[in-house]
Amino acid sequence: MSDNTIEALTILGLGDMGSALARSWLAAGYTVTVWNRSARQAPEGAAVAATAAEAVAANTLVVVCLLDDASVRATLDGIDLTGRDVVNLTTSTPAEARALSEWITARGGRFLDGGIMAVPSMIGVPDSGAYVFYSGSAELHKTHADALAVPADVTYVGADAGFAALYDIALLSAMWGMFAGAAHAFALIGGEDISPVEFAPLMIAYQQAMAGYSYGTAAQLASGDYTQGVESNLAMMTTTNGTLRRTAAEQGVSPELLEPFMALMERRVAEGGGNESNTGVVDLLRR
Ligand code: NDP
Repeated sequence: MSDNTIEALTILGLGDMGSALARSWLAAGYTVTVWNRSARQAPEGAAVAATAAEAVAANTLVVVCLLDDASVRATLDGIDLTGRDVVNLTTSTPAEARALSEWITARGGRFLDGGIMAVPSMIGVPDSGAYVFYSGSAELHKTHADALAVPADVTYVGADAGFAALYDIALLSAMWGMFAGAAHAFALIGGEDISPVEFAPLMIAYQQAMAGYSYGTAAQLASGDYTQGVESNLAMMTTTNGTLRRTAAEQGVSPELLEPFMALMERRVAEGGGNESNTGVVDLLRR
C-alpha cells in the first residue's frame, strides 16, 4: 500500500531530465527541494538548497538525476543518508547500480534504481508513453508508489538493484541497432534523387512490421529450438548479405555498420545453423 501522506521530495540535478522531473512533481502539487552543482534556473515553485547535504536533509524521498554514476558518488559522498529513500534515475550499468545500492544501504538508506525510457518532453505528460524501469527495495517502491507514478508510468522489475539498468540498457542497445540500420538505409539513398522525407515513412513502417520478429526469437530462446517456426532461414538470409554488400558498394556506402551482424550470421551458418532463424547469433554473442 502506498503512503499518500508523502508529498514532498528532493531532486539532486537540474539538467534537462532533472528539471523535467521537478516540473512534473511541482505541477502535481508536491513540495520540491532542488539542488544543482552549478547555478541553474530552478523550476518555479521549487525550494533551492545551498548544498546537496541540505537538500538530502530536507526530505525522506531523494531523487537523484545526474550525469553518470561517478557524479552520483561524488555528490552523495559524505552526506548522512540515515533514513533516506534514495531513488537514482541516473543512467548507469547494472554493476554500478548494485554497488550503489550496497553503498547507500550500508549508510542507513533504502535504495531504488530507475531507468528512464523517455526524453524530457515526455515527462509528466499523460499518455506520452514515458515509463521508468525500477528495481531494488520493494518496500521503498511501495512506500512511494504515488510519487513515483507522477513523472511517468512505473515498471518495477524486481529486487535486484541492477535489473532496472539492465532492462534500460538492453532496450537502448536494441534502439542503437535500429538507428544503425536507418543510418545505413539513408546513406544508400543519399546520392540519388530520392527524398529522405518521403523515404522515411516507408522505412519506419517496415521497421515496425519487422520488429515483431523478435517475438519469434524470444520463443526460440525459451524453447531452445532455433528451427521452430522458421520462415526466413539463415542460409537464405546470408545469401542476401551478398546483395546488401554489392548494393552498398554500388552506392558508394561503407558496409561497416552491417558487417558485424552479417559476419555473425555467416559464422552460425558455417557452424551448421543454415536451417535456423538468426536466434543463434545471441549464443555467439554470449560466448
Ligand atoms: P544534463 O547533461 O542535462 O545534466 C547533467 C546533470 O548532471 C547536471 O545537473 C550537472 O550539473 C550534473 N553533473 C554532471 N557532473 C556532475 C558532477 N561531477 N557532480 C555533480 N553533478 C554533476 O543531463 P540530463 O539531465 O539530460 O540527464 C541526466 C540523467 O538522466 C543521465 O544519467 C541521463 O542518461 C538520464 N536520461 C536522460 C535522458 C534525456 O533524454 N535527457 C533520457 C533518459 C535518461 P551541472 O549543471 O553543474 O553541470
